[in-house]
Amino acid sequence: MDDKIEFVHCRTLRHPWRVVDVTDDVDDDFSKVLGKSRLLRLRCRSCATIRIDRVGADGDLIERNYEYPRGYRLTKNDVRPELEQLRLTLLDRHQKAGEETP
Ligand SMILES: [Zn+2]
Repeated sequence: MDDKIEFVHCRTLRHPWRVVDVTDDVDDDFSKVLGKSRLLRLRCRSCATIRIDRVGADGDLIERNYEYPRGYRLTKNDVRPELEQLRLTLLDRHQKAGEETP
């Protein structure tokens, strides 16, 4: 697992999203069944993860997908870090190293 400070931030505090764009969904498989939907594309300001929400005409969230940057996702050999340990890592990195919020 990569412990870049950006990743520690997002694992601890969640991703700070900003909207990249909104487009009409052109996937016929979905529109035939669910009607017209749109894609909301978000990008994390910290780690650059991309989130894509497929939203129906009535506002329902139909589907959500993520595209993670290299090193963000845990591999099968990684031990999932406890939130408490992540929080302490975040505090230590900022207090001792003076790292700024990315
Ligand atoms: Zn992030």
